[in-house]
Amino acid sequence: MIIVPERAIAGLISAADCFAAVEQVFASMAKKSAYNFPVIREAIGHANALYGFKSGFDRESLALGLKSGGFWPNNAAMGLTNHQSTIFLFDADTGRCRAVVGGNLLTALRTAAASAISIKYLARPDAQVIGMIGAGHQSAFQLRAALDQRPFERVLGWNRRPEALIRLEAVAAERGIPFESVGLDRLGAEADVIITITSSFAPILKAVQVRPGTHLACMGTDTKGKQEVEAELVANATVFTDEIAQSISIGEAQHAVENGLLAVDDIIEIGAVIGPSHWGRSTPDEITLFDGTGVGLQDLAVACAAVDLAIAKGVAIEVEF
Ligand code: NAD
Repeated sequence: MIIVPERAIAGLISAADCFAAVEQVFASMAKKSAYNFPVIREAIGHANALYGFKSGFDRESLALGLKSGGFWPNNAAMGLTNHQSTIFLFDADTGRCRAVVGGNLLTALRTAAASAISIKYLARPDAQVIGMIGAGHQSAFQLRAALDQRPFERVLGWNRRPEALIRLEAVAAERGIPFESVGLDRLGAEADVIITITSSFAPILKAVQVRPGTHLACMGTDTKGKQEVEAELVANATVFTDEIAQSISIGEAQHAVENGLLAVDDIIEIGAVIGPSHWGRSTPDEITLFDGTGVGLQDLAVACAAVDLAIAKGVAIEVEF
């Protein structure tokens, strides 16, 4: 069995490697070659923790396994990350445990890859301005991966606590791109691409604030009850997602579907556009919205890539098991 510890991940796998792995598995999902198993998420009644599993199988790559972990709110006080996860991979032919892989950085990278993939396939080719809503831990990863997809000339940012935007300003500075902290009206009026990555339970961005032709990647809503944009905005858009079942139950589309503003059959899996069995954006004026809910197969795809790289680079830790 191979161990790839958390501390090895940063030096092993790039954002581009994660992008390729997630793009492959999204296409596999749309072809029904890969599927996610039902998600388990429980409040365990200890340390205020939320703990669960995300698992699945990709018959194309033979990635089989699960990500186990969750949220421990008291960790930060102990100098640890609140979100903790570990990915276990199994041999699809024998069921033997193949690898244990640190999942914290990989989760951030696979989530950033998802919104970047949506930009690659759905944003207008001439997009120049990117708007970021949210400036927490995940936001820097989303912005970095997005900046690789179009020659963006400006970054606009909004956060509930504007002082946190310094994180995004630093990412823009890495690429030599100007950054501006703005209100939501300006962000919506000027951005060609908008990424939302907050933990909000009430709509932040309104339908009237978004202009025709915008691509939105809504990435923060991954739980029942969370919401980042008005349901009317979702209804005005052509909606794409990683997985329809999650989109309508825990994703941004849950509210529009619940309110009868969006039909489940109108939601398109992004893998179909990668496939390509769907054309993606049809007109420059269309609003496209990617509802990125985060699926276990993304975790397995990037963990497999990390294991392959660890073996190729001779840094895989092998143990008898
Ligand atoms: P974080 O705690 O570091 O940052 C949270 C962000 O949300 C901050 O910008 C904060 O200001 C903002 N926020 C919180 N409550 C808000 C409110 N009521 N109104 C407006 N803004 C609010 O978290 P993070 O690691 O950056 O993750 C952000 C979100 O993304 C979380 O909700 C997390 O569950 C989700 N997430 C989704 C995926 C996925 O695959 N879709 C993966 C990882 C994280």
